[in-house]
Amino acid sequence: MATNRTFTMIKPEAVAAGHAGKIIDMITSNGFRVIALKYTRLSAQEAGTFYEVHKERPFYGELVDYMASGPIFAAILEKDNAVEDFRKLIGATDPAQAEEGTIRKRFAESKAKNACHGSDSNENAEIEGNFFFSGRERF
Ligand code: ATP
Ligand code: MG
Repeated sequence: MATNRTFTMIKPEAVAAGHAGKIIDMITSNGFRVIALKYTRLSAQEAGTFYEVHKERPFYGELVDYMASGPIFAAILEKDNAVEDFRKLIGATDPAQAEEGTIRKRFAESKAKNACHGSDSNENAEIEGNFFFSGRERF
């Protein structure tokens, strides 16, 4: 089952702008089933751990501050081919390069503040989902 799951966060600027409901609607309208969902906020330390793979990148500090700047929605989603299909639905990292009809094209403010996270592999989907959710929070 793990191969059919991905993990997402609706990022702070999209939540603050009131887009969370519309983004969740786009997600479920595109065939993803919500397995787990919570409204929460990362501490700077937690955001640093979550994005640790980017530690050496020049934007790491900015990314950590941004992800801890306000509440987010975190979710585990299920669908056939979930990881790849969800990356398609969110669109390119930079909204200027995202295709029409994608979440980032519609809602992202910039390459940094890009509305939505999507896991990049089955392995990371599992790790990221476990970061936020216990077994009894999944349905
Ligand atoms: P995510 O992992 O959030 O789904 P992604 O896989 O499309 O995004 P990554 O390369 O993993 O992109 O970068 C993680 C996040 O870091 C991006 O979503 C964005 O918020 C931020 N980021 C990436 N590149 C830059 C950059 N050049 N300048 C500022 N922020 C950036
Ligand atoms: Mg990524």
